[in-house]
Amino acid sequence: MPLRVAIAGIHIESGTFSPLASLRGDFLTTRGAEMLARYPFLADPEFADIDPLPLVHFRALPGGCVRRADYEGMKRDILDALADLSEPPDAFYFDVHGAMAVEGIADAEADLLAGFRAMLPAGTLVTCSQDLHGNVSAELVAMTDLITAYRTAPHVDVLETRARALRLLLRAWREEARPVRARVGIPVLVSGEMSSTTAEPGASLYAPLAAESDLPGVWDASLWVGYAWADQSRAMACAVVTGTDAAAVKRTAEGIARRYWNARERFGFLTEACAVDDGIRRALESPVRPVFLSDAGDNPTAGAAGDVTAALRGLIENPDLREGRATAIFASMPDAPAITVLRAAAPGATVTLDLGGKLDPVHGSALTVTGEFVSFHEGANPEAVIRVGGVRVIVTGKRRPYHLRQDYLRLGLDPLEHDLCVVKIGYLEPELAAMARGHFLLLTPGAVPPVLTGISYQYLRRPIHPLDRDFTWQPEAELFIS
Ligand SMILES: [Zn+2]
Repeated sequence: MPLRVAIAGIHIESGTFSPLASLRGDFLTTRGAEMLARYPFLADPEFADIDPLPLVHFRALPGGCVRRADYEGMKRDILDALADLSEPPDAFYFDVHGAMAVEGIADAEADLLAGFRAMLPAGTLVTCSQDLHGNVSAELVAMTDLITAYRTAPHVDVLETRARALRLLLRAWREEARPVRARVGIPVLVSGEMSSTTAEPGASLYAPLAAESDLPGVWDASLWVGYAWADQSRAMACAVVTGTDAAAVKRTAEGIARRYWNARERFGFLTEACAVDDGIRRALESPVRPVFLSDAGDNPTAGAAGDVTAALRGLIENPDLREGRATAIFASMPDAPAITVLRAAAPGATVTLDLGGKLDPVHGSALTVTGEFVSFHEGANPEAVIRVGGVRVIVTGKRRPYHLRQDYLRLGLDPLEHDLCVVKIGYLEPELAAMARGHFLLLTPGAVPPVLTGISYQYLRRPIHPLDRDFTWQPEAELFIS
């Protein structure tokens, strides 16, 4: 008899400092069989014993808090789909990011999973996969039998992690085991820009996890960096180790947590961080081309609104760029009213636009820009390019990332042919890193400022590094037994 595994989840990383609420319409909804595209590995013989029962999955770009009514509606949809099954599933796979914030709910993933647990027969196995930028509470770990997370940032092991969550589930089922989890919340917060596993200390903190997952009595060793731009008591780094030998599981979790704690002073920006004007000037003075600049405070892929104009203003006001002696790409400015104007513009026309400052009026205001209309690209999310002096500005209808070389080439823009490329991002995704010969982090205003010590948190569990520095800490794992 195969293992009937219900699958569902809401996947979003949401920041509590963004004024732009995430709405149901921001989520891509997949139901039933169409969800299986998320799990292509299920076709492998290894997973032949799994009979997947995909219910509903919601996925959105990172954003602000999910509006309460929209969250409740998505939760109801998922629970209705569970109730519609002809008989209860044998197991449940909770496929989430792990850093969803919902208005009025401090621990949204735990709330959602509690909804499932209430409907599942007692003893139903639950497995969960998360982004390593999730914030994992003890309440959540108590409700999952198995939980694992990405081991890379940038995340290149997404499918591998989902497969691991289901492999763990199969093992528990075949061995009729009730795994023990040890969780250690680590009082360290790190901004996304410091969390890359391609650099130190991230690389050495994550590299041993695979071997630690193979220790006798241990099934999985996972480490979360956490998500710093959520003002919640669960926001912190976390180690969770799963297995059958309680002592080994506890010892391993505490070892991982201690390793992370000991590295806390070594986390830093991977590249130089500077104020906007300083960063642009130094990038232009640099001997290499192209130089990428991260508009980090307003990075929509970390939860910011993405229409703060500080970096664009800096480009346009730079004399070399304004006069066209140097060139830059700005990716990008979501602005639906500007898209409407540009759709009607004739090629070569001079256009004046009040760009930005609409989605996030808290961290910046609109910037009046006069330039030449270059091109319009119709689509589900229309894009346009305007030229202001030496700056090519990409305007979009909705927020979206520009992580791939093709995202630019499609628009007739090649970052390799420009001096600078400003991207609303933190660390560079692999294709951007491959193009960049230099990189600066711009400390721009926005909902996800990379310097955490400047943020006024109210609900964080204190003390926590780097907001608090004068404290000692010893890891002590909390054990959960199904
Ligand atoms: Zn992440």
